[in-house]
Amino acid sequence: MGEHYAPTAATDTPLASMTEVGHFIAGEPVASASGRRQPVYNPTTGAVARQVALASADEVNAAVAAAQAAFPAWSDTPPIRRARVLFKFLELMNQHRDTLAAMITAEHGKVYTDAQGEVSRGIDIIEFACGIPQLLKGDYTEQVSTGIDNWTLRQPLGVAAGITPFNFPVMVPCWMFPVAIAAGNCFVLKPSERDPSPSLFMAELLKQAGLPDGVFNVVQGDKLAVDTLLTHPDVKAISFVGSTPIAHYIYETGAHHGKRVQALGGAKNHMVVMPDADLEQTVDALIGAGYGSAGERCMAISVAVAVGDVADKLVPALAARAKTLKVKNGMALDAEMGPIVTREALERITGYIAVGVAEGATLVVDGRVDPVSGQPFQVLGFEGGFFIGGTLFDHATADMRIYREEIFGPVLVVVRVPDFVAAIDLVNAHEYGNGVACFTSDGNVAREFARRIQVGMVGINVPIPVPMAWHGFGGWKKSLFGDMHAYGEEGVRFYTKQKSIMQRWPASIAKGAEFVMPTAK
Ligand code: NAD
Repeated sequence: MGEHYAPTAATDTPLASMTEVGHFIAGEPVASASGRRQPVYNPTTGAVARQVALASADEVNAAVAAAQAAFPAWSDTPPIRRARVLFKFLELMNQHRDTLAAMITAEHGKVYTDAQGEVSRGIDIIEFACGIPQLLKGDYTEQVSTGIDNWTLRQPLGVAAGITPFNFPVMVPCWMFPVAIAAGNCFVLKPSERDPSPSLFMAELLKQAGLPDGVFNVVQGDKLAVDTLLTHPDVKAISFVGSTPIAHYIYETGAHHGKRVQALGGAKNHMVVMPDADLEQTVDALIGAGYGSAGERCMAISVAVAVGDVADKLVPALAARAKTLKVKNGMALDAEMGPIVTREALERITGYIAVGVAEGATLVVDGRVDPVSGQPFQVLGFEGGFFIGGTLFDHATADMRIYREEIFGPVLVVVRVPDFVAAIDLVNAHEYGNGVACFTSDGNVAREFARRIQVGMVGINVPIPVPMAWHGFGGWKKSLFGDMHAYGEEGVRFYTKQKSIMQRWPASIAKGAEFVMPTAK
């Protein structure tokens, strides 16, 4: 029996005819003028699929100028009319969700069904942003003094920029631009240069939805493009998602240039497993959260904290499952894990496995080798692809690099601790604080865990607690620099500034009668 593949093959997407991924400025696709470019890979085959343009400062300046020019009219457009454009965009995103998912798999490598989930979580934020008239409502106090009223309202900032990572090329940009433009800002997106194509496709859909030219722009590029945005006087806000060293740099540099910045960084997410947890559910959750998307998720679980004697049952069950993960071309419908995004990332991950062995952790499952043949790991028919199997370490300790550092691959480490307090202390001492989970059947343990843990997003028997669109996403400690979380009401606050108005009027003059139902114009 042959393999079953996703109905939308990658060859049906706009990628098939695309040899160079360019920019999208002032409502039009723009080819690279600078001539700077770098390869984009198909991680499944390891071949160069196309080139991505790397913007010059002039090209970035052109995008910011287009956004700045579009701002007066867009910010003056009534919120309900901005929302109508987003409703149309929502419809188009739903119509093209499978195409977008196939584009993600083609450049990122994650399995198609997971890519579909990513697109859905991005669409959730667009739905949230469609409610912008309600979200922008201000506060009003009548009669703060005799004949004086006081109210607050929120106004857009101007041009906002988004700089996004490779691991969610649709969802993470959707954390930013739908809310920003709904609130009346114009936007310049600088996507990851590793999987740049879905951003251009979304730009085309926004145009089809009726978004005025210049409101949403895409510049492809590297550090040069980012630095140009960070220092540009017309860019008022920067949203960043990526690794912690770059997030810190973005926060410092953006703030130095007078911008508001939200910079979300890396992670090392723990799952605390209590001895009373349902073992089968816990193993399922750890396998999905540790190895799903090949561990290339900022909310992936990379540490299992085994409390008491639970590790003696947990580790053998995890090992059995890790060895039989279906690692395949992501377009195969039964694939559980696809390739790693680049050869460089694959080498970083294999390097960490060697570090873990040298540090003295117990290598229970080695993803570098095929568990059946014992030969170096590869996927039949895709020998050039950037594949690796799932890796499992036991007896890792808090001083080891494989525990402290973000590996960002399918490597799960188990740390054994004697009790609940030791588990809380371990998690709280870690420099990252993005996501965390506790698996238990004791309500009081769960409650205490949620209260005491120093982490921004907490799951109780939920392995990857990514908040829904109206709640907002953000970690603590070195997982987020800035005050505001992404999307949700914090996102609306980030992309708007508050104005307070206090007003007194002499006796007002009566106006003539109007007989037509007033509508938004
Ligand atoms: P990255 O930091 O390498 O790149 C992110 C963005 O920054 C890209 O657009 C890239 O072009 C740009 N960039 C890279 N180097 C730069 C430099 N020196 N100066 C200026 N800009 C630069 O991250 P990545 O490898 O694309 O993504 C993976 C990382 O993102 C992981 O650390 C992961 O945890 C993190 N991440 C965090 C979240 C979160 O919500 N906290 C979400 C997704 C990913």
